[in-house]
Amino acid sequence: MDLIAIAVPFFMLALALELIIDWQKGSGLYRSSDAINSLSAGILSTTIGYFTRFLPLLAWGFVLRNFALIDMQPEWFDLSASGLLLWVIAALAWDFCYYWFHRFSHEISVLWAAHAVHHQSEDYNLSTALRQTSTGFLFGWIFYLPLFLIGFPLEVLITVNAINLIYQFWVHTQMVRRLGTLDRILVTPSNHRVHHAQNERYIDKNYGGMLILWDRFFGTFEDESDEEPVIFGVRKPLANLNPFWANLQVYDYLLFDARKAARWRDKVAIWFRHTGWRPTDVEARYPKQQTDLSRFQKFDPQTAPQQRHYVMAQFIIAIAGALVIAELYARKGTEAVLIPCILLWLQLYTLGLLNEGRPAARRFEWLRLLLAVPVLSWLLQAGADGLQLKETGGWVIVALYSVVSATWLALIPRAEEQLLTQ
Ligand SMILES: [Zn+2]
Ligand SMILES: [Zn+2]
Repeated sequence: MDLIAIAVPFFMLALALELIIDWQKGSGLYRSSDAINSLSAGILSTTIGYFTRFLPLLAWGFVLRNFALIDMQPEWFDLSASGLLLWVIAALAWDFCYYWFHRFSHEISVLWAAHAVHHQSEDYNLSTALRQTSTGFLFGWIFYLPLFLIGFPLEVLITVNAINLIYQFWVHTQMVRRLGTLDRILVTPSNHRVHHAQNERYIDKNYGGMLILWDRFFGTFEDESDEEPVIFGVRKPLANLNPFWANLQVYDYLLFDARKAARWRDKVAIWFRHTGWRPTDVEARYPKQQTDLSRFQKFDPQTAPQQRHYVMAQFIIAIAGALVIAELYARKGTEAVLIPCILLWLQLYTLGLLNEGRPAARRFEWLRLLLAVPVLSWLLQAGADGLQLKETGGWVIVALYSVVSATWLALIPRAEEQLLTQ
């Protein structure tokens, strides 16, 4: 049973509800460009996962088969009192490992490169929760190896991981303020807001997944203060709306420093030392810009409202596409989803460009719409067993979609043209 797949409709419902409340109150918690970028990173993370999730599973399975200390049986984890106790122990053990994984993800450069994606949003709402990395598969699994070494069954650990992830969704909101004692026991909206802050007093705090007790125990807890409102985001802002670049930006910074460092020892150390560490020769030649939070401004490119509406409509289609791909993956596996994923990734890329108001964005979008006709028609035909799309011609629907979209885009005045007509 895939708990995360079951949770997705509830995530979408809660997000829609938060969006409506925000819109009604005019509280400005959502900007469409930022939310779309966060959700694009989430879709990218899920779809890249179709091609990479076997790696941690292979490693975990190998350790479990060859080195497990206790031969725990999945049947032990039933609904009896002892079974439930075992579930609680497994969930707590996973949460403990999560704390250390998350803490190292902030403290070690190469791990931060993967995790930074989750922190780049300068807004904080339920869409931020879904803003997940696509490169976490590289090292994340290492931190859970002790649990496989103990011998917890794979299916139990996959379930407690899902519960842990699902739990973390609801804490990404500003609509819930303080929860009294709960803020000191569980991870809650208040103490997780602190975790997403770039203010000096809040930085590198509150790493917990479900329990904030780990932070209180290991000295990384910080309470949210009314005197210092949280400024969300990272010190080196992403400053674009490209979900691919979001995943590569910090690796790129590290690669730059590694190339420029004179000593081989430094070229290696750059990846594994404390986040922010730079060799002295690189720092001297390319000094880091100091952050002045008193002058902080969100990255917020302005585009014509009609263009934003166009992107929103296309993004809803992208969400539908991602759901269809998820269903296809569940039925037919990795090979069946490669081409649909490439098409979807292209869509997320061009929508980011449009939201940034890049001059070349429309050309890229037209190219995508043109490409979509043969590729989608072929996919519809190939996977249309029993749907009679072969006969009716799925390509007509796809061509219609592309022509309507292209015409809609062509009719939107460019931002500069709009200014002239006002
Ligand atoms: Zn974090
Ligand atoms: Zn978070």
